[in-house]
Amino acid sequence: MIKYNSTRNNALSLSGAEAILQGLSTEGGLLVPDSIPLVGTDDIQNLLKMSYAERSAYICSLFLTDYSREELLAMTNAAYGAEKFDVNGSIGTATENFAAPLYKVKDNTYVCELWHGPTAAFKDIALQMLPRFMSAALTKTGAKDDVLILVATSGDTGKAALEGFCDVDRCKIQVFYPKDGVSDVQKLQMTSQAGQNVGVSAILGNFDDAQTGVKNIFGDKGFAKELSARGTALSSANSINWGRLLPQIVYYFSAYCDLVNDGEIAPGDKLDFCVPTGNFGNILAGYYARKMGLPVRRLICASNRNDVLTEFFATGVYNRNREFFTTESPSMDILVSSNLERLLYHEIGDAQKIAELMAQLSQDGKYTVPDGVMDSVRGIFTGGTYSDESGREVIADLWYSDGYLIDTHTAVAYGVLEQKREAEGEAFPTVVLSTASPYKFCGAVLSAVTGGTDFTETDGVELIDALYGKTRAPVPRPLAGLAEREVRFPGVVTAAEMKDEVRRLAERV
Ligand SMILES: *Cc1c(COP(=O)(O)O)cnc(C)c1O
Repeated sequence: MIKYNSTRNNALSLSGAEAILQGLSTEGGLLVPDSIPLVGTDDIQNLLKMSYAERSAYICSLFLTDYSREELLAMTNAAYGAEKFDVNGSIGTATENFAAPLYKVKDNTYVCELWHGPTAAFKDIALQMLPRFMSAALTKTGAKDDVLILVATSGDTGKAALEGFCDVDRCKIQVFYPKDGVSDVQKLQMTSQAGQNVGVSAILGNFDDAQTGVKNIFGDKGFAKELSARGTALSSANSINWGRLLPQIVYYFSAYCDLVNDGEIAPGDKLDFCVPTGNFGNILAGYYARKMGLPVRRLICASNRNDVLTEFFATGVYNRNREFFTTESPSMDILVSSNLERLLYHEIGDAQKIAELMAQLSQDGKYTVPDGVMDSVRGIFTGGTYSDESGREVIADLWYSDGYLIDTHTAVAYGVLEQKREAEGEAFPTVVLSTASPYKFCGAVLSAVTGGTDFTETDGVELIDALYGKTRAPVPRPLAGLAEREVRFPGVVTAAEMKDEVRRLAERV
């Protein structure tokens, strides 16, 4: 039986359903499992024969001990079926693994494509599951209030959450995105969202402003009371929710299994994963997989010019007091990687200490992790940074040498991997996690493959056709025809007006 406690309060003991509904602990900590289930060699032998949906139900059931295996399998079958995930958009060698197919670039270099879902980015993998976890959790806990999901997004989360929660019973969802911090494609995907239970608003500010605004609303007890009187409880779908992290652990196992099945590695061999990182959710799932026993040698944490994590792994100092850059990989433009708190909790094992570090972060904008802890962390993680300019070169190189097109986020990871390999003089078997279809970031990708002209993400969604004309790479199903879609949510608000937007949605019937 696995219970959930808080990174800042060990005395908590929530069931899986409660943890998923609650999202965040009341004192501000993140919810974490109180033990880590182990997956042995025999279990991996079993996983080899399973479909992605079966692998997912298996892994999820180890952590959500208050959900039955059958219940979870029904959810994963619905979440990852051919109706939701479409490998025909794949540029690589699509397998029957719909949710996370692998592409072999060359010996020891594989790309796991996590973007075949409804929004063409990796967050679909988790956000097709979270609403199903939540719906079931409302019943399991006998909750009286309906749920209103609040999301601050730097682009991809917002649309993926909207798709996941659209018209889900007893759920509403309000998404806030930074007005100038997302691509045209992302913006139109969100502002054209269907559904009676959804709200979408642009914020004057950057992603951190949006996230801070959402955190403030969650911390506002008076507002919670006001909403509760209307039968509504706030919850989160951001990558701090355990129900977001859990489904992401699966593709680490699945990629490993697929490589064994393809004869690329032998059972028991070690693998590296290289992950384009923002809020530290994706790569943290790899940390859990490794803790569970998956033979992962190390996790390479790739950052863009917002290199706060690269510095952290090098120095042990997390310092958000720095210039914020808007880059061509906007989903990684983050100064406070919230999920890092979970890593620190597992490595330090002392909720009191974590509470202190996080208080320092909010007061001084920085904290320092003791050397002994960093030694252990560095045994698992290494960080690296890649610029927009170099990222474009990687995109062009891969396209012209291998006919394989990647997006700007994946390019950061691929570039960091090459950098590491050059410095270390070896090419250890590595899976690069590919987090978005190149068609989600057409401006930068088109600029990269054409070389001369500078297209930007605000040149409009017509660039999808232009990129297709240039590369003939298949356009993912959810992005085809986007240009014709009607804008339902044109609104722009200040951070101070965010609460009114939530109130308005709560009142909507
Ligand atoms: C969200 C996102 C990331 C970063 O993932 P985290 O879990 O926040 O570290 C990277 N690439 C894309 C395309 C994303 O949408």
